[in-house]
Amino acid sequence: MIRIPDLLRKYAAAAPDRRALHFEGRDFTWSQTNDRVHRMASVLHGFGVGPGDRVAFLGWNSHWLVETYLSPSVIGAIPVPLNHRLGFPELVGLIADCTPKILIVDRHMAETGARLMAACPALDRLIFADWDGSHPALPPGTLSYDALITAGPPVAEDRFDHLASCDGDTLILYYTSGTTGVPKGVMLSHLNLFANAAGTGPLYEFSAEDVLLLSGPLFHLGTGSRVFTALVFGAGMVVQPRFRVEETMQLIQDCRVTTVTLVPTMLRMILDHPEFDRFDFSSIRCFTYGAAPMPVRLMERAIEKVPGVTFCQGYGMTEASPVLSVLTWKDHVPGSRFFDKLGSVGRPIHYGDLRIVDADGRQLPVGEVGEIVIRGPQVMTGYWNRPDETARAIRNGFYHTGDAGYLDEDGYLFLAGRTKEMIISGGENVYPIETENCLSRHPAVAQCAVFGLPDELWGERVHAAVALHDGVEADAAELIAWCRSQIADFKSPRSIDIFREPLPLSPTNKIDKTLLRARALAPKE
Ligand code: ATP
Ligand code: MG
Repeated sequence: MIRIPDLLRKYAAAAPDRRALHFEGRDFTWSQTNDRVHRMASVLHGFGVGPGDRVAFLGWNSHWLVETYLSPSVIGAIPVPLNHRLGFPELVGLIADCTPKILIVDRHMAETGARLMAACPALDRLIFADWDGSHPALPPGTLSYDALITAGPPVAEDRFDHLASCDGDTLILYYTSGTTGVPKGVMLSHLNLFANAAGTGPLYEFSAEDVLLLSGPLFHLGTGSRVFTALVFGAGMVVQPRFRVEETMQLIQDCRVTTVTLVPTMLRMILDHPEFDRFDFSSIRCFTYGAAPMPVRLMERAIEKVPGVTFCQGYGMTEASPVLSVLTWKDHVPGSRFFDKLGSVGRPIHYGDLRIVDADGRQLPVGEVGEIVIRGPQVMTGYWNRPDETARAIRNGFYHTGDAGYLDEDGYLFLAGRTKEMIISGGENVYPIETENCLSRHPAVAQCAVFGLPDELWGERVHAAVALHDGVEADAAELIAWCRSQIADFKSPRSIDIFREPLPLSPTNKIDKTLLRARALAPKE
């Protein structure tokens, strides 16, 4: 049986004084973490939170947020980490969707928390998670997280054994990034998350010796899944409030971090940092990355620039807990057998059945592009409140990812983009990623995003938004000519918008194509 309190107890008994969490200069041992989580569970229970009820957290990364991943399940309840970068009406919408009784906020979101309490009838209580028990923006009646959990006596570890959720019960509810529409609540069970953590662990070579830096957003499963990794392997966690490149590099050095999960944008910011050489990265064993396409050129640059450090890529999505395939560190070693697969997302994890299918669900042969589908213990139990969407996504036992790709003869998975993003130009199918990879190999290009725009002649035309490296010049005609010298004309952009500043990012740090498309369509002055 998989249950959070059992895992916590295990480490609290076997390694009570070992550091479980580090946050803003403070350390919490496994014993303290176990105690704090059980106390919070008891507080929630006292507030009438019961099995299946939701507890929302809105804030930057903190040990309070990590604890909130764990405490609700002790009494069978479900945590919902909310994205603090969403707009107020979007947050109201998500709260109306998952109707939590309790909202926990931190100092960064105190004001929003107060407004949400007034705007959302579902919310009973507001809890403030901070060292400092109060904040001028908070309404009367707000409770202090730390005051609440220190008020009572320690909680007997077996007190809530009859309530604790386990195995197939929902452990946590995440909202997807909303890249292709409104964010959807994804219900993930204990089995889902621990299948992912235990199944990918050997590929990433995680162990109790690891110190994981959580600097990506914990409201998102990409970074959030590392909490479950830490629980499976007994590894320590260093929590950074949010990614700030210089502070991240400092934390890696000061906390002797061994592994950190990055999205490509973060990796680029680290590599391009003018003081990169000032920091000591000798503790780092592996940079793991994923969540958005990694330009091959950027990865090649990273391998050259940080010798002695390995890289490991995961591809996946919230609905699959999240990892579907891994490009292991061995595949990142220049000269190794499969080094030419750097543009792939690696091989499918062995505990899932991953296939490429056509629009009718028929399996496609090696080399043919189709939709990526997967069946396995990591596939979500369903979308929250959206039975129709669940039925659309999981068909015949296979979760349909909405991503397009193909498997090559060595079993490596290559992504072609989102099925929704496929551009049909003059009857030809164009997957943006191929054009993006080509553009990103041009020396002047720092970032690019390719998408379709309506076109009278072609139906849709391939359009690119490009951000240039500082101090480098290139115009649209030159970049288009470059693409045409590398890939088919119909895959090359027909129009390009050039930006001097970095491209806009979505709340989970993916390049925001929706916004770029809207800008490209807006009438030019
Ligand atoms: P929504 O489902 O709400 O439209 P989303 O799909 O962006 O948003 P997530 O679950 O956060 O929400 O992201 C999963 C998606 O991210 C995948 O379907 C895939 O398109 C992309 N992705 C994940 N890992 C990688 C990777 N290693 N390389 C390229 N793309 C990736
Ligand atoms: Mg998605």
